[in-house]
Amino acid sequence: MSDPREDAVLADVPGDLFVGGTWRPAQDGAIVAVADPATGRTVAHVADATVADGTAALDAACAAFPSWAATPARTRGEILRRAFDLLVERADELALIMTVEMGKPLAEARSEIAYGGEFLRWFGEEAPRVQGRYGANPAGTGRMIVTQHPVGPCYLVTPWNFPLAMATRKIAPALAAGCTVVVKPATLTPLTTLFLARVLQDAGVPAGVVNVVTTTRTAAVSEAIIGDPRLRKVSFTGSTPVGRTLLKQAADGVLRTSMELGGNAPFVVFDDADLDLAVDGAMAAKFRNIGQACTAANRFLVHRSVVEEFTRRVTARVVELRTGRGTEPGVTVGPLIDDRAVATTDALVQDAVARGATLCTGGKPLGGPGSFYAATVLSDVRPGSDILREEIFGPVLAIVPFDDEDEAVALANDTEYGLVSYVFTVDLARGQRMVERLETGMMGLNVGVVSDAAAPFGGWKQSGLGREGGAEGIAEYLQTKYTLTPDPFAGRSRAAGLRAGV
Ligand code: NAD
Repeated sequence: MSDPREDAVLADVPGDLFVGGTWRPAQDGAIVAVADPATGRTVAHVADATVADGTAALDAACAAFPSWAATPARTRGEILRRAFDLLVERADELALIMTVEMGKPLAEARSEIAYGGEFLRWFGEEAPRVQGRYGANPAGTGRMIVTQHPVGPCYLVTPWNFPLAMATRKIAPALAAGCTVVVKPATLTPLTTLFLARVLQDAGVPAGVVNVVTTTRTAAVSEAIIGDPRLRKVSFTGSTPVGRTLLKQAADGVLRTSMELGGNAPFVVFDDADLDLAVDGAMAAKFRNIGQACTAANRFLVHRSVVEEFTRRVTARVVELRTGRGTEPGVTVGPLIDDRAVATTDALVQDAVARGATLCTGGKPLGGPGSFYAATVLSDVRPGSDILREEIFGPVLAIVPFDDEDEAVALANDTEYGLVSYVFTVDLARGQRMVERLETGMMGLNVGVVSDAAAPFGGWKQSGLGREGGAEGIAEYLQTKYTLTPDPFAGRSRAAGLRAGV
């Protein structure tokens, strides 16, 4: 049964490509269906861009670049701020769109709008704070001038799991720095990005500064854009294997790159932890976004003396979760993104059980229509289980006991990923030791969610390159120029009649 309000909101989302400030279909007229993962029903169609459409989007970004780069930073910032206000105003519609195309419960879609919108406000504020330096060189023979410049047209590729925030986290700093962009959202969740593009257009972003291409011909469209000598940067959020491919392609043009890739976060609970905090943190770190977050806790490493108590408490909370369509009141766990994700999640669970893990609750697909998997707790997961090595990307909480701090550190670091870790302890020195010993770009110390527009988000090891958010986020879209000029006092006495200002 369809809902008239939902249908009206979805019908209002543009389904065309956004190129050079105009909405238009793909050159060959191709379209692609967008499905609701909770029902399997097609809810919209969007244009399916060709390689030529991708190139046209880059043409538009290149044409718009000189005037956008020359636009005063304050003006760029004010446009971003206006986009933030419009997003907040239209939050109800956008939350519904995001829930229908991606599956997350409505309350979580609203949280993502609050988080994702914040990048527009934060980078709107950062735009006028980009600064240079001026000073005498050490020998006193010249003056060194250091200036910052936008890198140029950028290609931004985003995943389906946070369709708004992963886009604003790239678009906002790029625009704040004076860059223009071509955005390619995930094929599974294009509607949120198209809605955002209209918000940006309404906020006054000039034609060609932001272009959006939706496509199923992803590899071909991307390869042509990345191989184009006019492109200056690729920023990607998604899986590590695709990130590696794009890095290789970017090498030919020696492009600037930012890579926000996969994770395998350890969640470490020490014997001295406040268990109330740890259980709350575990629920947030695991079940937010139906477990489909790069920051999702993947491996719960729990000290043997508290593992039984932690498992009991966490299982009691998981049994209370309500799985269903994210638009229904009271639902806390939505569907996975598609049936393939259900099969992958189930394979990880069955492998863990076959190797000796105990199934405390859940452990099975819930059947259709829709791609639902039961919220699951596994305890005593054995070394060598696939679930400890691979990103789960589903509502499955896997617990491994440990005996001492060194063992916890060794287990936590035993992965090629290094995005985020979570540590629960009330011992200050132990907490500090973990900050220094865990090989991750971010850490939650007695908290289960770390994301913040003001913070440098990013990973170590194969979780990525570069940072998004914070002061670091805009630096990714700037390039530095150093200029040397001769000493303006050459041949004259600098000391005479002058108080050195440099
Ligand atoms: P994915 O790598 O399959 O796809 C990401 C994007 O890349 C999509 O837009 C997709 O269409 C595009 N893509 C796929 N193949 C491509 C190719 N050959 N050339 C160019 N583009 C291509 O990832 P996903 O399944 O959409 O997202 C889940 C992954 O993203 C997980 O691994 C997760 O950890 C990661 N992720 C990381 C962060 C972070 O900040 N580190 C944030 C969110 C998600």
